[in-house]
Amino acid sequence: MARSRFQAPTGTRDLLEPDTSRIRAAVDAFADKAGTAGFGQIVPPMFEDSGVFVRLGEASDVVSKELYEFEDKGGRSIALRPEFTASVCRAFAELRPLVPWKVWYVGPSFRYDKPQKGRYRQFDQVGAEALGSDDPELDVELIALAWRFFADLGLTDVTLMVNSLGDFADRPRYLEALTAYFESRLDELSEQARATLVKNPLRVLDSKRDVAVAAEAPILADFLSEEAADAFATVTAGLDLLGIPYTVEPRLVRGLDYYTRTTFEFVSSGLDAAQTAIGGGGRYDGLVEALGGPAVPGVGFALGVDRTLLACDAAEVFPAPSVGVEVWVVSVTEGPDGLALSEELRAGGVATGRAYDGRSMKAQMKAADRSGARIAVIVGEDEVKSDTVSVRSLRGDLPGRPEGEQQMTVARSEVVASVSALLG
Ligand code: AMP
Repeated sequence: MARSRFQAPTGTRDLLEPDTSRIRAAVDAFADKAGTAGFGQIVPPMFEDSGVFVRLGEASDVVSKELYEFEDKGGRSIALRPEFTASVCRAFAELRPLVPWKVWYVGPSFRYDKPQKGRYRQFDQVGAEALGSDDPELDVELIALAWRFFADLGLTDVTLMVNSLGDFADRPRYLEALTAYFESRLDELSEQARATLVKNPLRVLDSKRDVAVAAEAPILADFLSEEAADAFATVTAGLDLLGIPYTVEPRLVRGLDYYTRTTFEFVSSGLDAAQTAIGGGGRYDGLVEALGGPAVPGVGFALGVDRTLLACDAAEVFPAPSVGVEVWVVSVTEGPDGLALSEELRAGGVATGRAYDGRSMKAQMKAADRSGARIAVIVGEDEVKSDTVSVRSLRGDLPGRPEGEQQMTVARSEVVASVSALLG
């Protein structure tokens, strides 16, 4: 086939059926779980003043390398959102809602990432955030919400990793120890890690190329304040109480700089090694304030919809729903009988297709076969004269009718009721 003049931009795709129906079903499942846990939906803008995202930390790749930034026609510096948390915090700072403020969201995020399977430049996320309370039980409730969603999809191979990054006050001592450690092994670090070390030593723990050196680094758990350690103990006790399995992963720092205390990540063993993370989140007790709002704590998570569904593929769960029509209208009359019948059936809630352009009976029956419909509703001049239609099974006998019956005649006025009854 000739290459078309334009293609979808690198790292983006056109999603089509049945994937689109599957995504919608997954999002519906998430919305249901979030609603049950008392979260209301927020739809923030897809772009913000770049400054909103820069607050996420200039040492994180998401901000330093992957931000889709541009100047709009008014000369404003704008960025497409790389994630939702910053927008939610900006909205909180602006709208000052009553606390606790519990919101969930769905929509695309944008990152100028190197595209590969499970890594796109536009990808869908669902997530939830709760602002206004530093109760660690809220951290547990958020994790439980994500966990119930995965369980609802049938994903049972999800591993939950948790860690505490402590409070900002705990950081300097730890960073000092961490920096001293990495500096003592500088010649073993990748060039990239050496550059990151200057900006944010925590992120070196996250470097895929420096796993061996990072594995022996001092861990934050040994530097936590009593309050942060108590909060983390409450989180793990809560997970135990709810029967949610987890592993404490002392080197889990996650990609963004703003996390404090609890951080967590969900990984699926079914995915390729490079992108096993299907979601993650944590506490960000300083972010709203950094965006010019009041000093309110927050906790939340985001899940990658595309990757979650790839994990479902690998686990052979949550298959795409069958889509398509149930009935095919075949019309070989001079008049608009096909149009009238189809619209009547659709108005009656029956998924109905038909062929266009006045094609022959044979061609229309072929199209009916291909459509996957179970039943054909046929109208010709004879049917018009007797004010009837013929109802024919496209696969075996007519459902619910005596054995061997593949076709029946139905009064024109009864067509919707009869077909609905046949389809059960
Ligand atoms: P993060 O904020 O980086 O932890 O992202 C949350 C989740 O979004 C990840 O766990 C992934 O499932 C998903 N995600 C992040 N970046 C991408 C991407 N470029 N393509 C597809 N999914 C992504």
